[in-house]
Amino acid sequence: MRIIDGKLVAASIRGGIADEVANLRKKGLEDGIGLAVIFVGDNPASQVYVRNKIKACEEVGIESFLCKLPEDSTFEDVADTIRELNGNKDVSGIILQLPIPAHLDENKLIDLISPEKDVDGCTAAQKGRLWTGRDSLIACTPFGVMKLLEYYGIPLEGKNAVVIGRSNLVGKPMAQLLLDANCTVTVCHSRTQNLAEITRRADIVVVAIGKAKFLKADMIKEGAIVVDVGMDRDENGKLCGDVDFNAICEKCKYITPVPGGVGPMTVTMLISNTLKAYKKQHGIA
Ligand code: NAP
Repeated sequence: MRIIDGKLVAASIRGGIADEVANLRKKGLEDGIGLAVIFVGDNPASQVYVRNKIKACEEVGIESFLCKLPEDSTFEDVADTIRELNGNKDVSGIILQLPIPAHLDENKLIDLISPEKDVDGCTAAQKGRLWTGRDSLIACTPFGVMKLLEYYGIPLEGKNAVVIGRSNLVGKPMAQLLLDANCTVTVCHSRTQNLAEITRRADIVVVAIGKAKFLKADMIKEGAIVVDVGMDRDENGKLCGDVDFNAICEKCKYITPVPGGVGPMTVTMLISNTLKAYKKQHGIA
């Protein structure tokens, strides 16, 4: 069994991003390389994620703009902020931190983000590009999972991959990326029948459901590769994933831990996408 070290891979990718940003700055930038985070309300978990994103930007020399809006903001308040950022030349990437308050239409707001600044890969335009095999800004968490598998040289072609979870943010783009890597992909969800029978046939299982320690040892085959996207709390309030790590790890060939697996990759791919967006906007290969 080998533990996939997300912190190590993230640090290596971030080092490369920092070097590239420094080189671009040396050449003299036309506009700033910047990430804008729109944060509506005060969700406590989001506060931590937003702080991490801003810190990651600082570490690699990307500017960050925190646009904080009150919980009772109207659709037009948020829409105006997005439109302003779309036109701001120092902003290369924009994210709308989710969840947003329930009275706001999430999909409508997301689709106001200019696709070339959609560094979370969540607009219909970027999702459509991914779905149709074109170059795109890929949703950060599944993109990060692919980078982990690539870093560890895990072969994907022809493998049976099972993705548990079908959210727009994680499960669906994850399935598409594995399909693009020539896996045979099965997507499972809350209505799937005989889930364990399906996961036991998988060479690779990616779990993204938000249920603490859901995947048990008797649900995988010997030598499976298990990727845990979940960020949950166990019965003692301790951070854990969707996988029952201690029970399952000896049976796996590779496994990602929580924390220290997929989590550090999500923020890393966000800054990677911001740099990519900047380069594309400025015709830099
Ligand atoms: P989500 O939008 O709530 O989607 C959950 C998915 O899991 C749904 O498709 C749901 O099926 C499925 N599901 C729920 N219970 C199930 C069950 N018992 N069996 C099979 N499928 C089940 O969640 P999400 O945004 O994708 O996030 C999933 C997890 O990943 C959460 O713990 C979240 O915190 C974490 N996450 C981590 C990162 C990171 O950076 N590490 C990033 C994003 C998310 P239905 O569609 O049928 O309802």
